[in-house]
Amino acid sequence: MLNIVLASNNKGKIKEYEELFEGYDVKLFLLNDLNIVSDPEENGKTYIENALIKAEAIKNKTDYYILADDSGVEFLALGEHFPGIHTHRYALENGGNEKLNPKLAKEIGGSKAIFYCALAFIFPNKETYTFLGKVEGKVANKCEGNNGFGYDPIFIIDGFTHPNAYYPDSVKNKNSHRAKAVKSLIKFLKEKNIL
Ligand code: IMP
Repeated sequence: MLNIVLASNNKGKIKEYEELFEGYDVKLFLLNDLNIVSDPEENGKTYIENALIKAEAIKNKTDYYILADDSGVEFLALGEHFPGIHTHRYALENGGNEKLNPKLAKEIGGSKAIFYCALAFIFPNKETYTFLGKVEGKVANKCEGNNGFGYDPIFIIDGFTHPNAYYPDSVKNKNSHRAKAVKSLIKFLKEKNIL
């Protein structure tokens, strides 16, 4: 059994990771589950740097494997790498995704968008590895669906006709930026005979 602490207290995120590790002998914990307190400043310049900041902030607080992530979206119609590493803040500054998503659908619907997910993974012996998942798509012309979170009501993965939030979680979890990053991590852990 691989005990992994997720450097997060986000219940939605752990649910998604539990689905992504389904079928493997993995048990995931949130920081709260292990009484770990951590809220480092995410001042990295890249998704990978921010994932490393979150993972390294707890590396002396647990002997479990550590998984930290950082993700974001880039709307090509709004500028290079925008909002990118500031994706979370961008939604907050615009009244949250419930307000922002319809505005984006109206203003930049049909334009290209790319989601990224960086993972930092630290072994109990403190060896550290990183992985990056990327998925290309476009902004929908209107919000649709209630599944997922964040920008899921307006992000259509290339090859699909509706945004992520429209489909059951299992569809997103096969195709998302996070799914791709976790796939690379699982492949790596299998190669090392850890999974
Ligand atoms: P975080 O750094 O992983 O917390 O992600 C930053 C922001 O990106 C979140 O607050 C969400 O708004 C957005 N985001 C990340 N992953 C997803 C996703 O899978 N679907 C929709 N929005 C996402």
